Formats: sequence, C-alpha cells, structure tokens
Amino acid sequence: METVPPVTDSAGRDPFVRTRRGGSMKAENSVEKLITAVLGAVLPGEGGGTALHEPLFRGREKEYLLQCIDSTFVSSVGGFVDRFEAMLADYIGVKSVVAVVNGTCALQVALEISGVRENDEVILPAMTFVATANAVSHCGAVPHFADCEPGTLGIDPGKLSGYLSRISVTREGECFNRITGRRIGAVVPMHVFGHPGDMDGLTDLCDRYGLPMVEDAAESLGSLYRGRHAGSFGRCAVLSFNGNKTVTTGGGGAVLTDDPELAARARHLTTTAKVPHRWEYFHDAPGYNYRMPNLNAALGCAQLEMLDRIIESKRRLAKRYGSAFADLPGVAFFTEPEHARSNYWLNALIVDREARDRVLSATNKAGYMTRPVWRLMHRLPMHAHCPRMDLSVAEDLEHRLINIPSGPGILFDATGEETA
Ligand SMILES: *Cc1c(COP(=O)(O)O)cnc(C)c1O
Repeated sequence: METVPPVTDSAGRDPFVRTRRGGSMKAENSVEKLITAVLGAVLPGEGGGTALHEPLFRGREKEYLLQCIDSTFVSSVGGFVDRFEAMLADYIGVKSVVAVVNGTCALQVALEISGVRENDEVILPAMTFVATANAVSHCGAVPHFADCEPGTLGIDPGKLSGYLSRISVTREGECFNRITGRRIGAVVPMHVFGHPGDMDGLTDLCDRYGLPMVEDAAESLGSLYRGRHAGSFGRCAVLSFNGNKTVTTGGGGAVLTDDPELAARARHLTTTAKVPHRWEYFHDAPGYNYRMPNLNAALGCAQLEMLDRIIESKRRLAKRYGSAFADLPGVAFFTEPEHARSNYWLNALIVDREARDRVLSATNKAGYMTRPVWRLMHRLPMHAHCPRMDLSVAEDLEHRLINIPSGPGILFDATGEETA
C-alpha cells in the first residue's frame, strides 16, 4: 500500500473522528469488536445475516406487475412508463423525466445532450462508482478526476476552483485544459451515499467557468440540499433504479431536466431517434434503444408510492447508528452535511487506516455485510491515465471508509407500526 499523508483540518486534527479516547482501549475491546457489537445491537435479528442494501417490496408491486402483463404492454410503450415519469417529475420538482434502462445509459445521454463531445474532458469525482467515469468514456470523452471534501464527501468546489484557475484557459467562452489542450465539456457532481454535495459552491464554479453541470444523483433520490431535491440542479441530472438503490425498477435510470428542448432530445435519442409517423421507419440519428420497459416501470410506480416511508425508515436507521457509534473510540459515523437532508442510501463509517481490514473481516464474519468504498477511479486500469488534480482527501478516505447495512427493510420490520 502506498503511503498518503493523513488528511487534517486547519487545526491539524482528523476531520472525521471527533471523539477519540486513544490509549484507554483494552486489547479485548478492539475497534472491530466494538463495531461488530454495535451492529449486533442496532440491527434486528439473531447472529447477523444482514445484507448491505436489499430492496423492499411492501406496496402494490405484484398488483401493478400483473396489470402490466395482462395489458400485453410489457415493452417500450405503456401507461406505467408515462406514470413513472410523471410521478418522478412531480416528486423532484423538474419539468421533464425520461426513463431509461439504467443509470449508466442515463448519464451517457445526459452528457451527450448537454453538449459533451468526443475528446472533451469531463470533471467528476475520483471517489464514485465506476459508472460515472464509464459513461464519460462511452461518450468518447476523457474523465478528469477531482478531489472530495471531508464535510460532504462530494467534489470540493474550493479546491477544484483553485485547480481550474491554474490549469484552465477560456477561449471564446469555452473552457480548455491548457496542459492537454482538450476542451472541458462538463462537471459531474455525485452525491456520495445520498449525501448532497455543496451545490451552491459547485453551481457558482460552473457558472464562473461556463461549464454545464450534469448531476449524478443516482444515489440520492429524495435527498434535499437547502430544501431542494438532488436531481433538480444543473442542466440535467440522472437517477438509477438498480436493485441496490433507494427504490428499484429491477434495472433502470432516468434523465431529468427543466429544459424542454433537452428533454425532447433525450426522448428522441433513447427511442432509436425515430421520427414520429404512423407507419414510416425514418430515423434521423444513430439513436439508442434505451427506453425503460413498461414492466420495469410498473415495479417503479409501486416503489415510488412507498418512497417517503422508505426514506423515513432509512433515516431512522441512520439515527440509531449515529447514537450507537457516537462515543466509540476510533470510529466516526458519517452524518448528513449541514443544510442537507440525506436519504442515507448507504451508511458509512470512517475508521483508522490500519483498522479497516480487521473491521471488514470481523463484521462480515459475524454476518453483517460491510464493504470498503469503491476503488478510486484513477486506480482502475481503464481510467489510470486520465488527468487528475491532487486527490489527497479521496486517497485518505479510500483506506478508511466502510459501508454498513442500510436497507430500507431493516427497521421497516422492527417497529410494529411499519409492518403492513
Ligand atoms: C448506481 C450508480 C450509477 C448508475 O448505475 P446503473 O447500475 O447503471 O443504474 C451511476 N452513478 C453512481 C454514482 C451510482 O451509484
């Protein structure tokens, strides 16, 4: 393992671990034992067996699926797709939603309609799920990795601004990387584990550099930044409805925008770019077959009806974790940033670097599914040669972050009142 200096705040302290009673820990109270004990106390059931994030089907999922099958409209046309899009637009507060087959395709299309072209660079966090970077590559563009900030885990706008002022040049209103010569086509913030990033800072930065913002809100359905929904910022945004996300359509995604022209282009491109006609097959671009099938949308409609209760249940779990981990030495439970309401998609602990593997091993052995954060994007072979800024915060977190069980069903069952 390479050595990266630990990240400290302005006073030289670890920004994550506020309570630390170092030295008082006895050998039998190792951090992995303490964490395993807390998981055992918070999570219902005997002896573990808790997944990281299982979907919860407690609404009208089966009813809608049967209706969909009976209607024969199981594919790319049907009432459930339209209803699913309308429900999402209404919930998030955007004008248009285009439902597609997954979040990765949604992001690829969102980048394309936002003007990202082949050989552009697109700025995105190094600490994200690989789909964010892959979608950029699928557009023929080059990912350019930004560091995250300790308070939100999302892109650090102050640090990125300082970096861009050094490496970028503006020509005819467009922003270029003066080192590589490539145009910078967009900035893609990602709300890590559902926690909203600093949207004021990032919006201001994008405005100053004339860069379109494409929000990767795949993990943050229902999260709010200053009362406004994740997915309603930027030129467009994307959601994912994969099986491990807050709500699921089996597989699915969506492009969200307030711009009717962009929405029309997203709809056109994702439905083979067919020009509407009663019988002619005329297509005016190499379009995609990305439309969400009605069958998946049927599941999605039932899931969206449960969304408020799902988020309530996830937030209750986070609150319990927060109190249970509050005074544990050597552990910080990551809580929602100021001015944000998080959906707490995945709960996260931050531990000392040397303790991480012991914690992962002990908790998984006890039956509590825990996982390290994603391998940073610049460590993956296909993205290793991409440009990047100093990534010291992400590189510190890479060896310290652990996700713990977070499914919406964990406390749904535990309280009598929630059981249907
Ligand atoms: C889940 C996810 C996506 C999209 O994933 P799909 O599996 O293609 O729906 C994109 N970005 C992030 C950050 C994600 O977590």
